[in-house]
Amino acid sequence: MEQVKVNSETRFVGLPISPGLALSQVCLFNDHRREGLRVYRIAAESVRYEQARLRRAIELAGQRLRDLSARVAERIGAPEAAIFDAQRTILSDEGLSREIDAMIANHRLNAEAAVARTLDSYETRLRELDDTHLRERATDIGEIRRRLLDTLGNMGSSLHCWTQIRCLRGTNRIIVAEELTPSLTVELDTEHIMGFVSERGGPTSHAAILARALGIPAVSGVKGIRELLACGTELLLDGDTGEVIIWPDDQTLSRRHCVQNRRPVPPQAVAPVAGVTVMANISRAAEVVDALSMQAEGIGLYRTEFEFLAAERLLDEEEQVAHYASVVRAMDGRPVHFRLLDIGGDKEAPFFDLPKEDNPYLGFRGSRLLLSRPDLLGPQARALARASVHGPVHVIYPMIVEVEQFVRLRRLFTEAIADIPAGPIFHGVMFEVPAACLQAREMLEVADFGSIGTNDLIQYLFAVDRNNEQVAYDCSPDRPVFWSLIRRIVEAAEQTGRPLSVCGELAGDSRYLPRLREIGIRTVSVAPRLIPGLRRSLIHPSP
Ligand code: PEP
Ligand code: MG
Repeated sequence: MEQVKVNSETRFVGLPISPGLALSQVCLFNDHRREGLRVYRIAAESVRYEQARLRRAIELAGQRLRDLSARVAERIGAPEAAIFDAQRTILSDEGLSREIDAMIANHRLNAEAAVARTLDSYETRLRELDDTHLRERATDIGEIRRRLLDTLGNMGSSLHCWTQIRCLRGTNRIIVAEELTPSLTVELDTEHIMGFVSERGGPTSHAAILARALGIPAVSGVKGIRELLACGTELLLDGDTGEVIIWPDDQTLSRRHCVQNRRPVPPQAVAPVAGVTVMANISRAAEVVDALSMQAEGIGLYRTEFEFLAAERLLDEEEQVAHYASVVRAMDGRPVHFRLLDIGGDKEAPFFDLPKEDNPYLGFRGSRLLLSRPDLLGPQARALARASVHGPVHVIYPMIVEVEQFVRLRRLFTEAIADIPAGPIFHGVMFEVPAACLQAREMLEVADFGSIGTNDLIQYLFAVDRNNEQVAYDCSPDRPVFWSLIRRIVEAAEQTGRPLSVCGELAGDSRYLPRLREIGIRTVSVAPRLIPGLRRSLIHPSP
């Protein structure tokens, strides 16, 4: 087991990605998907958490077996499919889950270790029997073991305490991870986190977006820090300078006026200001509450893929309707912009069943992927159509490259909802690939609106990975060519009379607002917490 390697002040400097100071203990956040079978003892407080992980894994593995059985029955035959039905029956056996539960509780083992031990012993006992039929069942047990461990591993990470004394699972702690990918961030109890430190991650990575949206300090690019930490190590984090200090001494603490375990207070709402419409970016339906409390004038970007990442499986049409309709109803007639599933790149998960690619950022992602996946597009299109009876629905098509691609995808969308009573639905292009921006006029002639995604636009325009802190200096809008491209899109919107907004991180930075206004942007969409500051900067512009 890893031990704390330092107990005197040790300093690191990384890339500041979200401002503010935090002083708290560390919670190491590990991505088990990158590791082999992990066996470790857990704290008493973690027993229920591990048991809940086990239940979820049994449910997910059962669903996968059901899907597999249906596919095999259709393509090969019922007798072959029966193998998977038999495995599902064993998996759903109450006695089995009770035994694994007991192993977790009595031996204080993590779910993976309890699954492996319980099923290994089942398998051994079956192999020793005389009955040939029962001995054959041992193979099924081995298969179930593999499936459950795969599912547990793929279910995302878990907050894992190295010292196993009192893991608080991130509550009032600073999360330290190798990299906070989108599927890891959805696992966090964001209400109670004090800060983020990661070894990898750029300024517009989704972890950075999340940290700024929560108003908590974050620093990335702190190479090698995890080697020196254990759960519980004290850490001072400065999201303005990028400094990360392990075991800060009294002198350091007195120089920084920081208070331990202080969470950022939600900002005071500021009423809408004439001249610029400020909408909210959300990733989960529940966040509509934040948007409303900050008096957002609409939802400018709902990153719908995060609902799937949080559920750790594909959501069916009904489940999607529940999320989408709740947002439309809550916004009460104000526009809601749903981005169609923007999967691929760093937003991946095993249940999306994406092909293995050498360069996923330039591969099967966004609209390119949706065109070949009716199983993803169909249910989402129908769910959005059903939500539109409660209020206007704007659909943003992600990663559009060409006019023809947008037109084809919209046609598929329209065909999928042909038999569904729907309200007003508008179809728009996300301008985040330079090729689409260069033909903005042709795009807007066929689309109902446009939305500029500056995060990916900067990434693709300057060939700079937005998740790589080492090239962060190049991930910047401060170059004339970027602004001339934005101007080109604005001109196309004016010529075609189509509404246009900016929803990338740039929009939430009040330093860029005057420039956006100057070239004709009148609508932006930002994290709810950033809305008041942006409006204040409109009321009292800095000289
Ligand atoms: C963008 O690319 O600017 C954007 C808004 O979408 P995301 O950050 O989710 O890629
Ligand atoms: Mg994008």
